[in-house]
Amino acid sequence: MSTTPTTPNTPANALIQPTESGLYCPPGNFFIDPWRPVDLAIVSHAHADHARSGCGAYLTSAEGTAVLQARLGSSARIESLQYGEQRTINGVTVSLHPAGHILGSSQIRVEHHGEVWVFSGDYKTQPDPTCSPFEPVRCHTFITECTFGLPLYQWRPQSEIMADINAWWRANQERDRTTAIFAWSLGKAQRLLAGLDPTIGPILVHGAVANMLPAYRAAGVALPPAERANEENAREGRGRAIVIAPPSAIGTPWMKKFGDVALAFASGWMAIRGARRWRSLDRGFALSDHVDWPGLLSAIDATGAQQVGVTHGNIDTVVRYLNESGKVTAYAIPTRYKGETLTDEQPAEAMPDADAAPEAAPASDEPAASADDSTPAQDERWQRRPAAEADDSP
Ligand SMILES: [Zn+2]
Ligand SMILES: [Zn+2]
Repeated sequence: MSTTPTTPNTPANALIQPTESGLYCPPGNFFIDPWRPVDLAIVSHAHADHARSGCGAYLTSAEGTAVLQARLGSSARIESLQYGEQRTINGVTVSLHPAGHILGSSQIRVEHHGEVWVFSGDYKTQPDPTCSPFEPVRCHTFITECTFGLPLYQWRPQSEIMADINAWWRANQERDRTTAIFAWSLGKAQRLLAGLDPTIGPILVHGAVANMLPAYRAAGVALPPAERANEENAREGRGRAIVIAPPSAIGTPWMKKFGDVALAFASGWMAIRGARRWRSLDRGFALSDHVDWPGLLSAIDATGAQQVGVTHGNIDTVVRYLNESGKVTAYAIPTRYKGETLTDEQPAEAMPDADAAPEAAPASDEPAASADDSTPAQDERWQRRPAAEADDSP
């Protein structure tokens, strides 16, 4: 679904080019978010579909170094750049700029002989208290993700969604139900946590979420107290607590200790009615860490780019829309992921808890990245989802 014969592809002289191993900068001889081991990987952020293990060296933002190290393991060689700091690699000037997606997420700017390209990585333009805000960077060519690149995706303000979540938590308490909210363990879970009202009741988190908290606290992100869930605090918290866990924990024995549970999922996909019916969720909260449609168009505009490469999502739709707008020349950059519209929000949830989830088997078709990598059952579920969404399409 990534390209059609009518969709223009990457220009031959592109400063950033798709290759078998991922995006590559020929004069700089480095890769950006490669999916195979390479000598030098510049990594936009620590989600599993962007940060693969096995590379000789990594370059990432200073803000994101601790989470990337937590994901890749202590043996990974990671160098960091402050946002805006420049490094010259084989004559190519490289700098990283906040992408507003998760802690430490970067856009990657490369400049060679006066030509400037910016790779967005995953990004959002909405404010998020757990990471530096997205910063538009002027460039000639902008490579943008488009996970939610359809006009139907327009996010409500985070403050409204968090108010809904806190109100739902209270309502569940009145019915003596424990509240469980599922979210990707890196990024979304911490953003949720930051918005919870700890005066309502105890906050418990799955081990995969807990493992990322030290890096967030070390970066100065304000988070309410949260305990790693265990048999004891789960029993004590029955009917009162809220639990944040990765979606791969849904329907697993790990959930039993919380008693009668009201279930919700926090994801941009919850903007779609069909998705909310998935797995008998009680609620779906459309809280996304990806740019929505108005944000996508305004972000492209703010770069001043004349040329736009589109990847990671609804590629054909966005390429066609941009080319028809007449303002920019757009082209498709294929990715290797099948479930493209679902790619990033399916990273590969960490399941370090031994009793966590039977679904959390090692990844099947993915190169073994970090120990806490993919759950194929989860990926398959998500790749099936577009069919379920068809009835809600615009
Ligand atoms: Zn991501
Ligand atoms: Zn992604």
